[in-house]
Order: sequence, then structure tokens, then C-alpha cells
Amino acid sequence: MENKIGFIGLGNMGLPMAQNLIKAGYHLQVYNRTAAKASALEQAAITVCKTPAEASANVQFVVSMLSEDEILTEAVCGGDGVLKTLAKGAVHISMSTIAPDTSGRLAALHEAAGNHYIASPVFGRPEAAAAKKLFVCTSGNTEAKAAARSILEALGQGVYDFGEAVGAANVLKVAGNFMIIASLELMAEAFTLAEKSGLDRKQVAEFFGSTIFNAPIYQNYGKLIANKTYEPVGFKAKLGLKDARLALKLSQLTLTPMPLATLAHNRLLTAVAKGGGDRDWVEAFGKGVSDDAGV
Ligand code: NAD
Repeated sequence: MENKIGFIGLGNMGLPMAQNLIKAGYHLQVYNRTAAKASALEQAAITVCKTPAEASANVQFVVSMLSEDEILTEAVCGGDGVLKTLAKGAVHISMSTIAPDTSGRLAALHEAAGNHYIASPVFGRPEAAAAKKLFVCTSGNTEAKAAARSILEALGQGVYDFGEAVGAANVLKVAGNFMIIASLELMAEAFTLAEKSGLDRKQVAEFFGSTIFNAPIYQNYGKLIANKTYEPVGFKAKLGLKDARLALKLSQLTLTPMPLATLAHNRLLTAVAKGGGDRDWVEAFGKGVSDDAGV
């Protein structure tokens, strides 16, 4: 069936992304560790699968949105993995935030099996995913990217191509998330400084977000940090810690000193160490800075 695709990973991001693919007319063969998550999807538009291999059988495309490198690698290379069934010429669209060298290894395994792997990580939280407002960054084999284009377009507001080197989009994503965590620390410190000096932190955030820091990260995250809004959990601190680790790993590989990344990594490490791994990463920074300042 031409419009049938595999979809692996129905977490905070995967679920709204799967919903948009269904809206775009695709039938999904879905796999998730906890199968019950699939009950939130339109049942007529899905086939629930027991393994990643089952989800990848008899399709031209399989999309994966899993939490991290090791879990994706197991879903691809494990006994019931994608590579067991993915057809020759088919394309695996890998959308998780992972290390560029993981993409390189997985792409080589797919090529050896006669199919393709492209990296397509995204920017945007679950609300943005639900509203089809993600920014999709992609890299890898040119023909595979062209073939996957309409699927990527169904998921976001723009698709940005970073070339043939498959890990390029992953580098971009790691760099971007580093910019976000540095901004979260920056806003938490600035707003707390203002609060402790007698200003209304919400007014401070509104001022900056509408004037000299007039950009989505400062507006959207600025509001959450200013209002101390830590729920619902859109992005878990433990996944943020994974991304800070990815940035530090890349900084070491490329001999790029990143003192700010070290600082933000420690903030996330502290939050996770204190039991906040499943809380939103905004809380790691917002509450972390507030606690340090005694407010
Ligand atoms: P999540 O924790 O909500 O979901 C993770 C997914 O991985 C689920 O499908 C879960 O079942 C699966 N999984 C986790 N551990 C597993 C295991 N041991 N075995 C099998 N499956 C397992 O995460 P999320 O927020 O949906 O993020 C998914 C990816 O997207 C991550 O790489 C994340 O960094 C990235 N991302 C997240 C956001 C966000 O705002 N949440 C934004 C952009 C990118």
C-alpha cells in the first residue's frame, strides 16, 4: 500500500507527529514499547505492531522518534529490529536527537542492507508538533531525502536540508539545543536577579521578548521561566541532560571548548540527581536558579 508507513516511538513527540501523518492520509504501522499509547490514535488509520521489525515490514518509509542513541540502535539492529524487515530501497527517517556518529553508523548498516537512513531531527516542543509547527532539519542521501520530503513536510512548518553527510543535521540539532539550554540558564538568572531586586519577572520577560530578545526561544521559554510554569512536562530533564552530553561529546571530539555547555550540563545533572529527570527541563533551570537564590 503506497500510503502505508512504519512509525516507531509514541512518546511526547512521536504521538502528535503520528497524528499529523494520519491527518495527511497515511496509514501507520505503529510500534511503541507501551502499546497502550496507540489508543490515542485513530484506530482505523493504524496497525499496532509488536516489534520495530513488524512496523518496518512492507513499507517504503519508516519513521523513528525514540529517546536516545542506544534505544534507537537497539530498535534498528536488535533481534526484532528495523533492519530485519526493511525492504531494499526503503527509507528510514530517523528523527530522534542523537549523536552524528550514531547516524553515521546506522546509515552504513542501512546502505549495506540495500536501503537508506536519513537524519531528520526537529526543533519544537510537543505543542509545536501537534500544531504542525516543527522545524525539520535533514541530511543524508539526496534521493532518499527527496523521496521522504512529503512525509517531512506533513510534520512541520519547514524542512531544511544540510547536505549529504548524514550526521550534519544531528550536529545542527545538538548545537541548537545547546543554544536553548544556555538561553534557559541566562533567562533564569536574569529574571531571578530582577525578581530579587523588586521587579515583576513576568514584566521583565515580556519586555525582553517583545524588544531586544524578540525571538521564539525568549518569548516561549521566557514566559515559562518567568511564570515558573513547569507543567505539563513537554521535554524531560533527563533527555535535556542527554543533549548536553551530546554537545560535550562533540566538543571533545572536535576540540571545541564550550564552557557554557559545561555549566548547563551541570544544571541538568543536578536536577536529575535530585530526582527531577522526568520533570520538564525548564524546571531544571528555572527552579535550579531560584533555589540557589533562595526564592
Ligand atoms: P519521550 O520520553 O516522551 O518518548 C521516548 C520514546 O522512546 C517513547 O516512544 C518510549 O516508548 C521510547 N523508549 C524509551 N525508552 C525505551 C526503551 N528502553 N525501549 C524501547 N523504547 C523506549 O521523549 P520525547 O520527548 O518524545 O523525545 C523523543 C526524541 O525527540 C528524543 O530524542 C528527544 O531528545 C527529541 N526531541 C524532543 C522534543 C521535546 O520537546 N519533547 C523536541 C525535539 C526533539
